[in-house]
Amino acid sequence: MRNLYIQHASKRSASPVSFNRPLIAGEERLYLGEVLSGSHLSGNGEFTKRCQVLLEKMLPPGKALLVHSCTGALEMAAMLADLNPGDEVIMPSFTFASTANAVVLRGARPVFVDIRSDTLNLDESLLADALTERTKAITVVHYAGVGCEMDPILDFARGRNLLVMEDAAQGLCAKYRGRALGSFGQFAAFSFHETKNVISGEGGALIVNEPSFFHRAEIIWEKGTNRSQFWRGEIDKYTWVDFGSSYLPSEITAAFLLAQLEKSQALTRRRLELWRRYQGALSPLDAGGLLRGPRIPSHCEHNGHIFYVLAPSAALREEWLKVLWREGVYGVIHYVPLHSAPAGQKYCRLSGEMRVTDDIASRLIRLPLHLALEEVDQDRVIDVLTTLAKAG
Ligand SMILES: *Cc1c(COP(=O)(O)O)cnc(C)c1O
Repeated sequence: MRNLYIQHASKRSASPVSFNRPLIAGEERLYLGEVLSGSHLSGNGEFTKRCQVLLEKMLPPGKALLVHSCTGALEMAAMLADLNPGDEVIMPSFTFASTANAVVLRGARPVFVDIRSDTLNLDESLLADALTERTKAITVVHYAGVGCEMDPILDFARGRNLLVMEDAAQGLCAKYRGRALGSFGQFAAFSFHETKNVISGEGGALIVNEPSFFHRAEIIWEKGTNRSQFWRGEIDKYTWVDFGSSYLPSEITAAFLLAQLEKSQALTRRRLELWRRYQGALSPLDAGGLLRGPRIPSHCEHNGHIFYVLAPSAALREEWLKVLWREGVYGVIHYVPLHSAPAGQKYCRLSGEMRVTDDIASRLIRLPLHLALEEVDQDRVIDVLTTLAKAG
């Protein structure tokens, strides 16, 4: 395999293909200039409100609160869900640490279930086995912007009085059965971290889909005070009324984000084009069983957030990664499953085997995919991977 590869590589002088590179989408500089020449730099100003209005248009019927990160939004959701020590929340182990951390911070326990081998999302058929009398909620993670099976999940939750939280960090502008991801659970958390589809450096949003939680969400957002009501002129002074923390992003972040949100449809379209180029070029290898690409159910409209391949074995994944990096193609793994991480072992419980999770996590490579990616660079990624896959 190595010989094959060196032959191929010597044909070109390669500049590195980075995994991610942030892209200015439109009016970022203009809006930042407006903030800097104004008098409101802290949170909850005009730009924050305009972002929230846009998000609410994209995600009816939810109420949007801009936050400093998806991590923050997940923490707020855990507070709103009134999680207490001993309570359990069912979730996949195949996710980012923040999904579980939010629950652990309330003294509650994440309970991991395995994932489906097609979408890599939580396997809804395993919910019943994970249920105990302490189960209070389910956190679903829409991996790669591909929707979880929300119909059966919501049915299951409703019948047992469980809350549903959507970790929609990767799910902006994606749909399940025609409805936006983030509009299903009582709460949804989005990320605008620079590696996501729509960005503000660090950033996030909490979407609250059930009106009975609106009031408390604003209080938790504003450090446990009723300052939001004060700003609206509903009360004449504000005070500490509940627990909460500091979740607002500054107007500087919101100004940047607004420019991105205004372009979210176009950004998603371009991302999907790049995603489909990968899919088209690699599909013969996929059909031949030399690697496996993503599987998108026909009732899911995804957003091109991640293009991954599964190597035939864990050993080949390590080998492929080594060669990719040597050739300046920065593919990355995703994720170290939480149940195998030190904090996961300390704070969490397993429900059943993590067979699919362990298998997928050991074979997955995320390919470089970002809006500044040039097609010639993408072609190089494809070339290197094709050579590797054919060599086996
Ligand atoms: C990115 C991500 C997060 C964390 O988002 P931040 O905005 O960086 O806090 C949480 N969950 C998932 C599934 C993610 O992909």
